[in-house]
Amino acid sequence: MALSENDLQKLKLQLLKLKSEMIGAAETGEMAEEVVELDQARVGRLSRMDAMQAQAMSVETGRRRRLQLVEIEKALERIEAGEYGECLECDEDIHPGRLDAKPTATLCIACAEALE
Ligand SMILES: [Zn+2]
Repeated sequence: MALSENDLQKLKLQLLKLKSEMIGAAETGEMAEEVVELDQARVGRLSRMDAMQAQAMSVETGRRRRLQLVEIEKALERIEAGEYGECLECDEDIHPGRLDAKPTATLCIACAEALE
């Protein structure tokens, strides 16, 4: 196992922090979506188009955020199961530097590049 217990704890904390940031951002995002709806009821056509565009963007942002939240949850589950840090394709250890940059990574660099 390439990751020390210490590394694992650090990555776990990082994931938990990311998770709470995501949840916080989701709440703010939902508020923004509500504001757009209120605006739509009382503004003209042009502003309404702006508002619709802004809403489409916030829906897209929300979608990505939910996907990332799922990835974070899965990474935390792998930590609990003792499977964290192993490539899902080839079972090799994922480089700790890669996990540090992207704690939700599930593939080693070689497999990630092969799949691109
Ligand atoms: Zn691999």
